[in-house]
Amino acid sequence: MYIPSGEWVIILKARLQIINRIWKSLRFRIIMLLMIISSIACFLVKEVVVGAYEDRAVAWRTAEIQEQCTILSNQLVKSTYLRTPQSDVVDAELSQFSNIYNGRVIIVDDDFRIVKDTFGTDEGKTMISPDVITCFSGSGTSYYDSEAQYLDITTPITVTLDDKVKVEGVILASVSTDIIYETMTELNGKANIIIWIIVLIVLFFGVFLSNHMMHPFHRIVKGIEDVTEGYDSDFLHVSTYQETADISEAFNKMLGRMKILDDSRQEFVSNVSHELKTPLTSMKVLADSLLAQEDVPVELYKEFMGDITEEIERENKIINDLLSLVKMDKTSTDLNVKPENINELLERILKRLRPIAAKQNVELVFESFRPVTAEVDEVKFTLAISNLVENAIKYNEEEGWVQVSLNADHKYFYVKVADSGMGIPQESLDHIFERFYRVDKSHSREIGGTGLGLAIARNAVVMHRGAVKVHSEEGVGTTFTVRIPLTYIA
Ligand code: ADP
Repeated sequence: MYIPSGEWVIILKARLQIINRIWKSLRFRIIMLLMIISSIACFLVKEVVVGAYEDRAVAWRTAEIQEQCTILSNQLVKSTYLRTPQSDVVDAELSQFSNIYNGRVIIVDDDFRIVKDTFGTDEGKTMISPDVITCFSGSGTSYYDSEAQYLDITTPITVTLDDKVKVEGVILASVSTDIIYETMTELNGKANIIIWIIVLIVLFFGVFLSNHMMHPFHRIVKGIEDVTEGYDSDFLHVSTYQETADISEAFNKMLGRMKILDDSRQEFVSNVSHELKTPLTSMKVLADSLLAQEDVPVELYKEFMGDITEEIERENKIINDLLSLVKMDKTSTDLNVKPENINELLERILKRLRPIAAKQNVELVFESFRPVTAEVDEVKFTLAISNLVENAIKYNEEEGWVQVSLNADHKYFYVKVADSGMGIPQESLDHIFERFYRVDKSHSREIGGTGLGLAIARNAVVMHRGAVKVHSEEGVGTTFTVRIPLTYIA
């Protein structure tokens, strides 16, 4: 079947993705970990057991051969074989020995001359090996070569003369350890089969265990998917492990926050509709009552039309405030910060607001403690301060005062807007920055408030990485303090 090269790349990529997915999955890693640990443990046990068998078997065989050699050495002494190495009995014993143990026996006299070699090849030759020399000093030696599978044992041939032990020769037995090797191979084979069985059992157990262990995580994923798809808005409760409990808690916190945001969005939408509807309802009532009457006097017409114009202005103000708020809700990348002379900027803002203050008989004063230059967005900063000063004028008393002051330290500048107005009740202080919140709805409406001014002011200040604080005492006055960094922190 011909597959175009482009498709090969796609197939290959898909395969790689699958491999990557498997490799990254916790299930796979648990299974692998179990298998690696179990096979390492099995191999270690096998090595220890087979190694112990080998040591034990070699020790047994060595002891057995040494015993046989001691018996042989006694016979050799008895038959003075070293001097006259012609004894059919001894020869038969030696060849029987080498047959039984599948090996070779060499007998060396005290001139290091080989008097007997069961292979019959080296008789008459001299043998000087470290083992033979050691053995002449009285103690036998043994050497095991596991690679070549043989065991070399030397035993001294001793005679006791006048209570003195004299080494007259050495028996050197070289025997095959084939049997040990074969047993070990068999043991290894069986151990390997057992290891495979164990690894397979661990694999099945691992698959089962990892499935079981992953179950709570699947429940979390399912729960999150359900919430995302809107099937379920319930909180997650998967407390099987501490980790899943932590994930559930973090998710629930996020869900809680999302719900609050959603609630506040819905509340905002219903507030907006309500606020926009109020002037329209008033206008409709005014227009309907005009239409319902016949021969309406011109004065009444004018009065009602004046009221309708006021409602239109109000509607316009709400829409403008909403637009400002929406702009403020956007990210701070919309800020157009430039170094500004804050003293001059505040003077300009207050100049614009002085006629409004004058209309209400409110004295508006500005006090600056030092010249301040800071990085601000002129339009948004102006909006924030204007709203605060306008409020200070609006919620003031006849003959009251508003004091705006400017100060700075090495990091921030501070604008204080203090008034001698009616103050804000303590229980309302936490809410005044909320959108559409008004302490006294009807009063605020009367004086043209929308309930958005402080929300706009706070957003504008926060966009500058600043903060607004309020302190108020009912019947005494209110002070808003704005703190903004001198250098804008992006
Ligand atoms: P509004 O458009 O109604 O003035 P704001 O968001 O600017 O809305 O203010 C929210 C509420 O906080 C106002 O309705 C008013 O009750 C209260 N408030 C704000 N500033 C002052 C102030 N300087 N003195 C007394 N009350 C104030």
